[in-house]
Amino acid sequence: MNQITVNDLVEKIERFAPPYLAEDWDPIGLSFGSKDKLVKKVMLALDVDATTIQEAKENHVDLIFTHHPAVFKAPKLLNSDDTRRQDYIELIKSDIAVYSAHTNIDAAENGMSDWLADALSFPENRSIVSTIREEFYKKIAVYVPVEAAEKLRTAMHEAGAGEVGQYNDVSYDMLGVGHFTPSDGAHPDRGEVGESETVEELRIEMLFPESIRDRVIQSILTNHPYEEPVYDLYTIENQKKAYGFGRIAPVETTTEEMITQLKETFNLSHLRYAGQTSSRIHKKVAIFGGSGENYYKEALAQGATLFITGDVSYHGAQDMLRDGMDVIDPGHFIESIFVPKMKEQLNQWKNLHQWDLEILEARLQKDVFKFS
Ligand SMILES: [Zn+2]
Repeated sequence: MNQITVNDLVEKIERFAPPYLAEDWDPIGLSFGSKDKLVKKVMLALDVDATTIQEAKENHVDLIFTHHPAVFKAPKLLNSDDTRRQDYIELIKSDIAVYSAHTNIDAAENGMSDWLADALSFPENRSIVSTIREEFYKKIAVYVPVEAAEKLRTAMHEAGAGEVGQYNDVSYDMLGVGHFTPSDGAHPDRGEVGESETVEELRIEMLFPESIRDRVIQSILTNHPYEEPVYDLYTIENQKKAYGFGRIAPVETTTEEMITQLKETFNLSHLRYAGQTSSRIHKKVAIFGGSGENYYKEALAQGATLFITGDVSYHGAQDMLRDGMDVIDPGHFIESIFVPKMKEQLNQWKNLHQWDLEILEARLQKDVFKFS
């Protein structure tokens, strides 16, 4: 079993949900504690509130990992005159670290937006409601002696290369012969200085999104046996990867059916909706975690007639109705899907790397709204 620090965990999370995907206003990251702190117990929660902090203290948790950041508005004073500040003081006194991944997880591939779409069984051919970033794919071709190929391939996959759609660890090999003559000053892995050498080599090709380019190249430089590894890098112009908020998919449903499905999926007794008639048939539906009413026009432009999002305001709903968009508000708390989904992900890393880590779910946190 391997001991891990906050930093070990953060590195994994930020590969899954890169911080550059977060909105500028969003204070994601480590808000309390030190990166070097050992983590034996992590607790997952949607928010950091007094209930969660108490639960974390009782369970001797080292790190609370939340979706919503702990400090949205930095206090100018840190006395205990205010309940929010009391929470902060409690976290520091109890030496509990807090890390949050928010809009970066909303926009990440297979993050919040996809979790919600998956929960509603949206088909895979879904698109993004609001795209915030697009990047080209790169193709790398690297030449390596046959017997050193597997180690290199594994290292490149670990760096994230070999992605094609929903497939991982994709590569293509071609067998060939490499020729070279090491010159004075070279320290060849094989062959002698001044003598020509022939080696049976594989050309391994892989695709990866350009944002991880440095990591992939570094994996080659550290795992290739040659002093001067040879690789070619191409931009693939016909494949782009996109990131963004919300998902829209061809889903045939009535408003009423979707309401029933939402209630069952997210265990809701009531929810609000605004629409023409509850029997209206929709062919395309969009879901947007958190508060998405400002993004409905992007969903409308892509053909959605039903928009599912939290925190819908009176005037926001009026605007949507005027534009022909029906809206269902299942509440912001459906984002607590973060807890089981992230637990699944942390467990995968834990098993893969033999982490000495206990993963807890905050159980006492409830939706702030009640219906009576
Ligand atoms: Zn949220």
